[in-house]
Amino acid sequence: MEFTPTELERYSRQIQLPGFGQEGQKRLKDSTAVVTGVGGLGGTVALYLAVAGVGKLILVRGGDLRLDDLNRQILMTNAWVGQPRVFKARETLLNINPEIEIEAVHEFVTPDNVDALVQQADIAFDCAFDFTERNLLNAACVRWGVPMVEAAMSGMDAYLTTIIPGETPCLSCIFPEKPDWDRWGFGVLGAVSGTLACLAALEGIKLLTGLGEPLTGQLLTMDLGSATFAKRRPYHDPNCPVCGHFTQQRLMSYVGKQKAQVQNYEFIIHNS
Ligand SMILES: [Zn+2]
Repeated sequence: MEFTPTELERYSRQIQLPGFGQEGQKRLKDSTAVVTGVGGLGGTVALYLAVAGVGKLILVRGGDLRLDDLNRQILMTNAWVGQPRVFKARETLLNINPEIEIEAVHEFVTPDNVDALVQQADIAFDCAFDFTERNLLNAACVRWGVPMVEAAMSGMDAYLTTIIPGETPCLSCIFPEKPDWDRWGFGVLGAVSGTLACLAALEGIKLLTGLGEPLTGQLLTMDLGSATFAKRRPYHDPNCPVCGHFTQQRLMSYVGKQKAQVQNYEFIIHNS
């Protein structure tokens, strides 16, 4: 394993975890993660990916830091209000863990940049604040076969799932209509976005390392006002406009196999 003594010491407490070990650490080191919407949610996701030692983070967020971001954006300082938050997020994360690589993209997710971002990634974290960016990232992840951790919240409610293109429902299957909380300015507590972010980062770490059981094909719903957690199985729409072609392909290959079996059977009959 190609770890420096500093890396081995830095990550020793997690390397000790059963089912993690140096192999898990190596998988994190060899991975690139895209995190969109680097705010209360994405910034905290990035923090826990960075301290865990994910080799490269690509942070994507346009706009500048505002004073009313500071109740939840824990990578920021008061002195940075008015500055591009994605560059400041990079600065904080590299101060905490200088052994990883971080690319800061001071842009929102757009049809022009999303494919290039996703193609570089082993995993994507969807933490954008609106469904325009979320739908773009979902479609690109489906297009390029990149797993996506989907973390969303509204007020005290939070949702989390891990999407594997072709295997699980995608974001469009789960939310075919935009939820009515798709808007600016809902109330949010930092402890709520932080709770969801920690769980989202953990989902990614599990998926990359094989630790535990990720929420693939399951939607974790959390009412943090009453600390009520539930797991649901969202519908995998075979006619989904984004991922439906995977289901169609699977059906075709199933039909193809059945046909081949019938032909083999006929061949046996004719030659027996
Ligand atoms: Zn879908």
